[in-house]
Amino acid sequence: MKRFLYLMMTMAVVCAFAQQQRQVDRKSRTSPLGYDDTPVLPGQKWKVHDIARPRPAMVTPGAKPGDPPSDAVVLFDGKDLSQWLEGGRGGAREARWKVENGYFECASGTGSVFTKEKFGDVQLHIEWAAPPEIEGSGQWRGNSGVLLMNRYEIQVLDSWENPTYADGQAGSIYGQYPPLKNASRKPGEWQSYDIIFEAPKWEGEKLVKPAFATVFHNGVLMHHRKEIIGRMAHKVVGTYAPHGPEEPLGLQNHDTFVRYRNIWVRRLGTYDQE
Ligand code: MG
Repeated sequence: MKRFLYLMMTMAVVCAFAQQQRQVDRKSRTSPLGYDDTPVLPGQKWKVHDIARPRPAMVTPGAKPGDPPSDAVVLFDGKDLSQWLEGGRGGAREARWKVENGYFECASGTGSVFTKEKFGDVQLHIEWAAPPEIEGSGQWRGNSGVLLMNRYEIQVLDSWENPTYADGQAGSIYGQYPPLKNASRKPGEWQSYDIIFEAPKWEGEKLVKPAFATVFHNGVLMHHRKEIIGRMAHKVVGTYAPHGPEEPLGLQNHDTFVRYRNIWVRRLGTYDQE
């Protein structure tokens, strides 16, 4: 019995010492900045943990989720539509949508709006709210749309207890693919889209890569790198037609009073040393 107790006490002392050693080690541990004696990664010019591989640039994230990071282009500051134009039969003009209380709202009798600046591959954050007062039904309830490159539409619609065709509800790639789920909030409540968009690529008149979209609605995945069939179209299959590598971001006027705020994009640069 005595020997057993002695053994246990010895083990306890050893364990305490080891624990102390571990704590000391934790504070002074370092790791190599990289290696130059590791195998080359398949399809890359870099080795595993390559010491020579450049490290990505710092980006300061937004102070809270949804805020623009430091390298974003902020397209609406809550005050004016100076970065937007309005389309129409007479050509582009200054946007006339109503600005109030930190948001802007589609105005009846005006055209769709689009940014002065053009974009290709982007990460886009945008917040919208369907009108608090329910008017009409189906496609007449809070219809608008995020028009990527002014032609590929992620549908904005009040899809809270408002049945319509599946490829036309909120979060759909309009006329092509329904969203994976319906994550709609009630009319009047603010909602978010986070979109990763890959622009189509052309060689002259020939499409060599279609567009792809990944879409989150209120943080819920709607599309995972879905291939876009063509431009937005109603009751027909949308098709592609050549356009520039960068085009404006548009917001559709469908004659309902949809509101927008907190809009920012990041151009999707590639990591320098791929
Ligand atoms: Mg629409």
